[in-house]
Amino acid sequence: MTSCVFCDIISRKIPGKIIFENKKTLAFLSNNADVSGHILIIPKDHCTNLNDITDENFIELQRTLLKINNHIINTCGYTGVNILMASGESAGQSIQHIHFHLIPRNFNDSITAWPELSKEKQETSDVLYQKLKITF
Ligand code: ZN
Repeated sequence: MTSCVFCDIISRKIPGKIIFENKKTLAFLSNNADVSGHILIIPKDHCTNLNDITDENFIELQRTLLKINNHIINTCGYTGVNILMASGESAGQSIQHIHFHLIPRNFNDSITAWPELSKEKQETSDVLYQKLKITF
């Protein structure tokens, strides 16, 4: 495996402001001080994105996400959170170790965390519906 900055934070090769850790996951403040309180939540096993994470790791990741949310709301005094993930380089994933971004929110905090989506349409909604629906 090539070098991974998140694996280096897990192994403490790179210092991180770790706010929570358990056997399977880690949550730490982003070194990219773009938004106050920006938290990254990762599995300890190196998984690139949603295409190679195991069910167990994804469930543990979600458990930690919920735990951090509850802490942010019930203990830290925030009123909401944004949760963001990019899975795959084409989706804008910049670090190839799966991660959720959790951004604590308050009313009137001036943070714009929701992506501005393009209005471009490449396929009709009927074509997309046929392509995307899951047949059981
Ligand atoms: Zn990694």
